[in-house]
Amino acid sequence: MQERSTAPGAAPAIGVLALQGGVAEHLAALDRSGALARPVRRPEELRGLHGVVLPGGESTTTSRLLHAFELFEPLRERLAAGLPAYGSCAGMVLLAREVVGGAEAGVTPLGALDVTVRRNAFGRQVDSFEADLDFTGVDGPVHGVFIRAPWVERVGPEVEVLAEVTPRGAGDDPAAGRIVAVQQGRVLATSFHPELVHGDERVHRHFVQTVRAG
Ligand code: GLN
Repeated sequence: MQERSTAPGAAPAIGVLALQGGVAEHLAALDRSGALARPVRRPEELRGLHGVVLPGGESTTTSRLLHAFELFEPLRERLAAGLPAYGSCAGMVLLAREVVGGAEAGVTPLGALDVTVRRNAFGRQVDSFEADLDFTGVDGPVHGVFIRAPWVERVGPEVEVLAEVTPRGAGDDPAAGRIVAVQQGRVLATSFHPELVHGDERVHRHFVQTVRAG
Protein backbone atom coordinates (compact mmCIF):
# COMPACT_ATOMS: atom_id res chain seq x y z
CA MET A 1 0.00 0.00 0.00
CA GLN A 2 1.32 3.43 -0.91
CA GLU A 3 1.17 5.92 1.94
CA ARG A 4 -0.79 9.04 1.04
CA SER A 5 0.16 12.52 2.09
CA THR A 6 -2.25 15.09 3.52
CA ALA A 7 -3.90 17.82 1.47
CA PRO A 8 -1.92 21.06 1.69
CA GLY A 9 -2.97 22.99 4.79
CA ALA A 10 -5.02 20.13 6.29
CA ALA A 11 -4.16 18.92 9.77
CA PRO A 12 -2.60 15.46 9.51
CA ALA A 13 -4.07 12.63 11.59
CA ILE A 14 -1.31 11.32 13.84
CA GLY A 15 -1.82 8.29 16.05
CA VAL A 16 -0.06 7.77 19.36
CA LEU A 17 0.54 4.17 20.30
CA ALA A 18 -1.40 4.01 23.57
CA LEU A 19 -0.38 0.72 25.14
CA GLN A 20 1.92 2.15 27.81
CA GLY A 21 4.07 5.17 28.67
CA GLY A 22 3.84 8.88 27.95
CA VAL A 23 0.74 8.81 25.75
CA ALA A 24 -1.15 11.87 27.07
CA GLU A 25 1.91 14.13 26.79
CA HIS A 26 2.44 13.21 23.12
CA LEU A 27 -1.26 13.64 22.30
CA ALA A 28 -1.19 17.12 23.86
CA ALA A 29 2.07 18.13 22.16
CA LEU A 30 0.79 16.96 18.77
CA ASP A 31 -2.50 18.82 19.21
CA ARG A 32 -0.54 21.97 19.97
CA SER A 33 1.58 21.32 16.86
CA GLY A 34 -1.30 21.43 14.41
CA ALA A 35 -2.04 17.70 14.14
CA LEU A 36 -5.21 15.76 14.84
CA ALA A 37 -3.85 13.40 17.47
CA ARG A 38 -5.56 10.20 18.47
CA PRO A 39 -4.66 7.16 20.57
CA VAL A 40 -4.05 3.80 18.89
CA ARG A 41 -4.77 0.57 20.76
CA ARG A 42 -6.30 -1.60 18.08
CA PRO A 43 -5.18 -2.53 14.57
CA GLU A 44 -8.19 -0.81 12.96
CA GLU A 45 -7.17 2.47 14.61
CA LEU A 46 -4.14 2.56 12.29
CA ARG A 47 -6.48 3.15 9.38
CA GLY A 48 -6.41 6.64 7.89
CA LEU A 49 -3.38 7.80 9.87
CA HIS A 50 -0.79 10.05 8.21
CA GLY A 51 1.77 9.38 10.92
CA VAL A 52 2.32 7.56 14.19
CA VAL A 53 4.17 8.30 17.44
CA LEU A 54 5.69 5.61 19.66
CA PRO A 55 6.07 7.07 23.15
CA GLY A 56 8.62 6.29 25.82
CA GLY A 57 7.93 3.78 28.52
CA GLU A 58 9.51 0.34 28.71
CA SER A 59 10.33 -1.21 25.35
CA THR A 60 10.12 -4.74 26.78
CA THR A 61 6.54 -4.15 27.98
CA THR A 62 5.42 -2.27 24.86
CA SER A 63 6.92 -4.98 22.68
CA ARG A 64 4.96 -7.64 24.57
CA LEU A 65 1.76 -5.60 24.40
CA LEU A 66 2.16 -4.96 20.66
CA HIS A 67 2.01 -8.71 20.17
CA ALA A 68 -0.77 -9.25 22.73
CA PHE A 69 -2.94 -6.56 21.07
CA GLU A 70 -2.13 -7.99 17.61
CA LEU A 71 -0.72 -4.64 16.58
CA PHE A 72 2.85 -5.66 15.87
CA GLU A 73 2.38 -7.01 12.34
CA PRO A 74 -0.13 -4.36 11.11
CA LEU A 75 2.09 -1.58 12.46
CA ARG A 76 5.24 -3.15 10.99
CA GLU A 77 3.49 -3.37 7.61
CA ARG A 78 2.33 0.26 7.68
CA LEU A 79 5.85 1.37 8.61
CA ALA A 80 7.35 -0.75 5.83
CA ALA A 81 4.91 0.94 3.42
CA GLY A 82 6.28 4.33 4.47
CA LEU A 83 4.02 5.54 7.29
CA PRO A 84 5.88 8.47 8.91
CA ALA A 85 6.80 7.73 12.51
CA TYR A 86 8.39 9.36 15.53
CA GLY A 87 9.70 7.36 18.49
CA SER A 88 10.94 8.86 21.76
CA CYS A 89 13.16 6.81 24.08
CA ALA A 90 11.55 3.33 24.25
CA GLY A 91 9.87 4.33 20.96
CA MET A 92 13.32 4.79 19.42
CA VAL A 93 14.25 1.27 20.60
CA LEU A 94 11.12 -0.15 18.96
CA LEU A 95 11.65 1.62 15.62
CA ALA A 96 15.24 0.37 15.29
CA ARG A 97 16.44 -2.41 13.06
CA GLU A 98 18.79 -3.81 15.72
CA VAL A 99 18.71 -3.49 19.50
CA VAL A 100 21.71 -4.26 21.67
CA GLY A 101 20.34 -5.90 24.79
CA GLY A 102 16.98 -6.35 23.13
CA ALA A 103 16.54 -9.99 22.20
CA GLU A 104 17.36 -11.41 25.63
CA ALA A 105 14.90 -8.92 27.16
CA GLY A 106 12.19 -9.97 24.71
CA VAL A 107 12.19 -6.82 22.55
CA THR A 108 11.22 -7.38 18.92
CA PRO A 109 11.94 -4.12 17.10
CA LEU A 110 9.85 -2.94 14.15
CA GLY A 111 12.84 -2.28 11.87
CA ALA A 112 11.68 1.05 10.43
CA LEU A 113 15.01 2.82 11.05
CA ASP A 114 18.34 1.51 9.82
CA VAL A 115 20.12 1.97 13.14
CA THR A 116 21.49 -0.09 16.00
CA VAL A 117 20.25 1.16 19.35
CA ARG A 118 21.60 0.24 22.78
CA ARG A 119 18.94 0.10 25.51
CA ASN A 120 19.64 1.74 28.89
CA ALA A 121 22.90 2.87 27.35
CA PHE A 122 23.94 5.76 29.53
CA GLY A 123 24.75 3.52 32.47
CA ARG A 124 24.43 4.14 36.16
CA GLN A 125 26.39 7.39 36.43
CA VAL A 126 24.23 9.28 33.96
CA ASP A 127 21.20 7.00 34.18
CA SER A 128 18.88 10.00 33.94
CA PHE A 129 20.02 13.50 33.06
CA GLU A 130 19.11 16.64 31.17
CA ALA A 131 21.15 18.39 28.49
CA ASP A 132 20.72 21.16 25.94
CA LEU A 133 21.29 19.91 22.41
CA ASP A 134 21.83 21.36 18.96
CA PHE A 135 19.13 19.76 16.84
CA THR A 136 19.35 19.93 13.05
CA GLY A 137 16.15 21.39 11.63
CA VAL A 138 15.14 23.09 14.89
CA ASP A 139 16.24 26.66 15.72
CA GLY A 140 18.03 27.12 19.04
CA PRO A 141 19.00 24.52 21.63
CA VAL A 142 16.55 21.73 22.49
CA HIS A 143 16.30 20.69 26.13
CA GLY A 144 16.72 16.93 26.29
CA VAL A 145 15.27 14.95 29.20
CA PHE A 146 16.93 11.53 29.29
CA ILE A 147 15.39 8.77 31.43
CA ARG A 148 17.20 5.42 31.26
CA ALA A 149 17.65 6.37 27.64
CA PRO A 150 19.05 4.46 24.68
CA TRP A 151 21.71 5.82 22.33
CA VAL A 152 22.34 5.07 18.67
CA GLU A 153 25.49 3.03 18.03
CA ARG A 154 25.29 2.58 14.27
CA VAL A 155 23.54 4.54 11.57
CA GLY A 156 22.85 3.23 8.09
CA PRO A 157 23.81 5.25 5.00
CA GLU A 158 20.36 6.82 4.66
CA VAL A 159 20.13 7.94 8.26
CA GLU A 160 20.81 11.55 9.19
CA VAL A 161 22.14 12.34 12.68
CA LEU A 162 20.13 15.27 14.09
CA ALA A 163 21.62 15.55 17.58
CA GLU A 164 24.50 14.34 19.71
CA VAL A 165 25.21 14.99 23.37
CA THR A 166 27.69 17.84 23.65
CA PRO A 167 30.46 17.32 26.23
CA ARG A 168 29.56 18.85 29.59
CA GLY A 169 32.74 20.10 31.18
CA ALA A 170 36.08 18.37 31.21
CA GLY A 171 36.91 14.78 31.99
CA ASP A 172 35.57 11.47 31.04
CA ASP A 173 31.94 12.05 30.14
CA PRO A 174 30.42 8.75 28.96
CA ALA A 175 27.51 10.61 27.37
CA ALA A 176 29.61 13.01 25.29
CA GLY A 177 29.26 12.65 21.54
CA ARG A 178 26.56 10.01 21.73
CA ILE A 179 23.96 10.09 18.97
CA VAL A 180 20.56 10.87 20.46
CA ALA A 181 18.37 11.98 17.53
CA VAL A 182 18.16 10.53 14.02
CA GLN A 183 15.96 10.71 10.96
CA GLN A 184 15.64 8.45 7.96
CA GLY A 185 13.22 9.85 5.40
CA ARG A 186 10.04 10.43 7.36
CA VAL A 187 11.01 8.34 10.39
CA LEU A 188 12.35 10.32 13.34
CA ALA A 189 13.63 9.11 16.72
CA THR A 190 15.00 10.76 19.85
CA SER A 191 16.61 9.15 22.91
CA PHE A 192 15.03 11.88 25.02
CA HIS A 193 11.51 13.09 25.82
CA PRO A 194 10.53 16.43 24.22
CA GLU A 195 6.92 15.71 25.26
CA LEU A 196 7.98 16.31 28.87
CA VAL A 197 9.21 19.85 28.19
CA HIS A 198 5.99 21.78 28.53
CA GLY A 199 5.56 24.76 26.25
CA ASP A 200 8.19 23.67 23.72
CA GLU A 201 6.71 21.73 20.84
CA ARG A 202 9.52 22.32 18.34
CA VAL A 203 10.44 18.66 17.94
CA HIS A 204 6.78 17.68 17.52
CA ARG A 205 6.33 20.52 15.02
CA HIS A 206 9.37 19.23 13.15
CA PHE A 207 7.68 15.82 12.96
CA VAL A 208 4.30 17.26 11.90
CA GLN A 209 6.15 19.27 9.23
CA THR A 210 7.87 16.05 8.07
CA VAL A 211 4.50 14.28 7.84
CA ARG A 212 3.04 17.17 5.85
CA ALA A 213 6.01 17.33 3.51
CA GLY A 214 5.41 13.84 2.11
N1 GLN B 1 14.83 2.01 29.36
C1 GLN B 1 13.63 1.98 28.60
C2 GLN B 1 13.67 0.92 27.51
O1 GLN B 1 14.70 0.49 27.11
C3 GLN B 1 13.28 3.30 27.98
C4 GLN B 1 12.98 4.33 29.02
C5 GLN B 1 12.12 5.44 28.54
O2 GLN B 1 11.38 5.33 27.56
N2 GLN B 1 12.15 6.51 29.27
O3 GLN B 1 12.65 0.56 27.04
